[in-house]
Amino acid sequence: MLDIRYELTNARKEKPDSSALGFGRHFTDHMFLMNYTEGKGWHDARIVPYADLSLDPATMVFHYAQEMFEGLKAYRTPDGSVQLFRPEKNIERMNRTNDRLCIPEIDPSDALDAIRALVAVDEEWVPSLPGTSLYIRPFIIATDVQLGVHPSKTYLFIIILSPVGSYYKEGINPVKIYVEREYVRAVRGGTGFAKVGGNYANSLIGQRKAESLGYAQVLWLDGVEHKYIDEVGAMNVFFVIDGKVITPTLESGSILPGVTRASCIELLRSLGYTVEERRLSIDEVVDAYHAGKLDEAFGTGTAAVISPIGMLDNTDEKLIVNEGKIGKIAQTLYNTLTGIQWGILPDTFGWTVKVKE
Ligand SMILES: *Cc1c(COP(=O)(O)O)cnc(C)c1O
Repeated sequence: MLDIRYELTNARKEKPDSSALGFGRHFTDHMFLMNYTEGKGWHDARIVPYADLSLDPATMVFHYAQEMFEGLKAYRTPDGSVQLFRPEKNIERMNRTNDRLCIPEIDPSDALDAIRALVAVDEEWVPSLPGTSLYIRPFIIATDVQLGVHPSKTYLFIIILSPVGSYYKEGINPVKIYVEREYVRAVRGGTGFAKVGGNYANSLIGQRKAESLGYAQVLWLDGVEHKYIDEVGAMNVFFVIDGKVITPTLESGSILPGVTRASCIELLRSLGYTVEERRLSIDEVVDAYHAGKLDEAFGTGTAAVISPIGMLDNTDEKLIVNEGKIGKIAQTLYNTLTGIQWGILPDTFGWTVKVKE
């Protein structure tokens, strides 16, 4: 067990109205902190009142973006208990990201202890309205105070919690997507597979352009040939062509290995669908569309779970997918995954972890 020092506050904040939470706008009463010092390792795990951080302006993270983050959720089940969805997957990914960014690894069981302990302390903040959850944001920042460029010798691991609303309050509406041909999100050999703030800073301009043109998100193509599909916005992407489910392979290193992506693949295979993980070009999607074989397209991620694509704007042509409606496979995935996450369906895969034993 990770040895955690508790410094709890009695000054509890007023909880927001569960029907109007939005995403990432409210934060709970406490946060988890743990320091790293070279030679000493990770130390001083503590849960303290949620508060501002005080950092020297020369702190490395502000200048060179040596930072990583994760995102997962805690769900309130019908019996009132609270559970996590495959947290060990997020922790494995956290350490792969750490490795890429020269951030020291965290013992996976310590990371899980930290998440569970913090959610247990602020358990009252896990909302219970349908579709609502408690978003968990672990992140690590480089804290050396100096401007030379090399990996920091000190770090701060922080976990904050945010009650979040239902992503689909007015039902699932398929979104319009812009196929981006100028900007790229990631390249082979870069940080595309790692969950780092820098990837997001780099992708904002594409997102802004798509929004200004009236689209919800960008379809990112590979950074070398601008031909193969990588992701949609900050989600993994799936296409259903002629009854087969196809998602881009992780082999390029430019795609974030989503926990939702992996879960959709396992679930679909267990239901008897053919799922191919391979390179998929935008031209193949367009050809399938013209042949009347593009059945469905959707994004996957922790926030929305499944986000159907109703239209793809491919510069000279607008492809309307499944008449702009959610498809059968997307709907099945959404119902099954959310059912397991909120404890409404039996967890036959053993994917959920209770916060308190
Ligand atoms: C987090 C993230 C995803 C989705 O991963 P999940 O584990 O399913 O939430 C997809 N793409 C990017 C770029 C991401 O940052």
